[in-house]
Amino acid sequence: MSKIETKYIFVTGGVLSSLGKGITSSSIATLLKHSGFKVGILKIDPYINVDPGTMSPLEHGEVFVTHDGAETDLDIGHYERFLNMNFSSKNNFTTGQVYLSVIDRERKGGYLGKTIQVIPHIVDEIKRRIRLAGEENEILVVELGGTVGDIEGLPFLEAMREMKHEYGMERVISLHVTLIPLIRAAGELKTKPTQHSVQELRRIGITPQIIIARTEKEIPKELKSKLSMSCDVDYDCVIMAQDAKSIYQMPLNFLKEGVLVPIARFLKLPEFSPDMKEWDLLVKQILAPQNEVKIAFVGKYLSLKESYKSLIEALIHAGANLDTKVDIQWIDSEELEKNEEALEQLKYVDGILVPGGFGERGINGKMRAITFARENKIPFLGICLGMQLAILEYCRNVLGIKDADSMEFNPATKEPAIYLIENFIDQAGNQQVRTHTSPMGGTMRLGEYECQTKENSKLQAAYQGQKVIKERHRHRYEANPKYRERLETNGMVVSGESNGLIEAVELENHPWFVAVQFHPEFTSRLQAPNCVILEFIKQSLEFARN
Ligand code: GLN
Repeated sequence: MSKIETKYIFVTGGVLSSLGKGITSSSIATLLKHSGFKVGILKIDPYINVDPGTMSPLEHGEVFVTHDGAETDLDIGHYERFLNMNFSSKNNFTTGQVYLSVIDRERKGGYLGKTIQVIPHIVDEIKRRIRLAGEENEILVVELGGTVGDIEGLPFLEAMREMKHEYGMERVISLHVTLIPLIRAAGELKTKPTQHSVQELRRIGITPQIIIARTEKEIPKELKSKLSMSCDVDYDCVIMAQDAKSIYQMPLNFLKEGVLVPIARFLKLPEFSPDMKEWDLLVKQILAPQNEVKIAFVGKYLSLKESYKSLIEALIHAGANLDTKVDIQWIDSEELEKNEEALEQLKYVDGILVPGGFGERGINGKMRAITFARENKIPFLGICLGMQLAILEYCRNVLGIKDADSMEFNPATKEPAIYLIENFIDQAGNQQVRTHTSPMGGTMRLGEYECQTKENSKLQAAYQGQKVIKERHRHRYEANPKYRERLETNGMVVSGESNGLIEAVELENHPWFVAVQFHPEFTSRLQAPNCVILEFIKQSLEFARN
């Protein structure tokens, strides 16, 4: 079999961050995938952390977990959601990882006494990792994190320049995402920042072929001509990326703007056209849905919704597939602890969602929301910490085990209904748990595991009768099987398990109260919404109708 000569589309960003490079990269990869190409995608992060696993969600947004248990940048989540594909640890690397492997090799004498330098050693390692991610793909989209001009991004740009030199334009093109700011007082769109950013790229030897111009207002023809002239790109290579209501519109907008024409021309791709019919319909249902549900989202990082990115997107996917607007009511769990008004809000929702989380802050508020959902028979979905709290709530308020606690909040608790995984490993001895030891000393259960669903359970019904499902994990604590019998004889059923670990619970005397230890949001895609989240929204829709 002849080895595929992968073609590379590099995506860089200029002017400022948060311009939507991730969405741009995902959108272009989506269009190419829907045109029948074998497409891969890679995110390179310039920070020194080895992975984002140890970063605060407040600082970095969500940590996305791949099926193979890598803790990655949240852009990998966008890639999976757009492309409806599983990616792995190969699809995201950081400066920290690059240096770690070069230094490790140096320590082992792998460089035969040479002086190790950024060029060539670091850059070579970057190129090796890019090629690795591109293997088996016809096209690899490579998103460079950060903004052109950042000191830490330089080795990546050099790697890209060298690859262009080695492979030529037929295999390597560069796409630059910039901002065309609107100066409100004058009502004018400005091109100067883009010109400067392209000049900065040229200074390091890179001439972009395509400019993606993020803008609030439509860019008129004359301005496109000006950009084309000043940035030295063809007129049809200035692609407008106008602000959109939904990120899922972007592939369609880019298609309309003709982004595939220059890509096909430069990379000498055979003729193709993407099939976006299904996508188009889903986007219509996001923009103008027939139904609506109100979902209470009880979290603690509400000031930074980025930390719940995958879950928010998963709710959008469920909504799109049910032609329903999911109206999220953000409820701060700490407010629920101290004021009655917050509790009052729960009376007007159709479903209550308690997401994952770490630490003690706000847990009593979350627990109040769970009691409310249980007693008032409101559809409820608990995720990870949400499941652990649902069990604690049941132990305390129904089984009467007042001191039931999680070792996360109370390590010395006498009633550890939620306990440390390590204990379980010690007891069972043979438990195969893929863990990672963080520098802070903790271990986490990470990535995909099989879960057996219980016959006739709500969980199994949600997964359309599947007896074995696969979902992803990111947690340290587990439901303690010591309490299982008491729970089960009193109405809380274990409806999902994985080698003796409790993966899901649900209530018998409740229309739909389901809580899962895994994170269903990590496997949700626009075209393949996650089953249990979809069912939760369906049930909430039912509730709203009655
Ligand atoms: N803090 C809990 C644990 O570590 C739950 C984690 C989560 O919700 N992701 O087990």
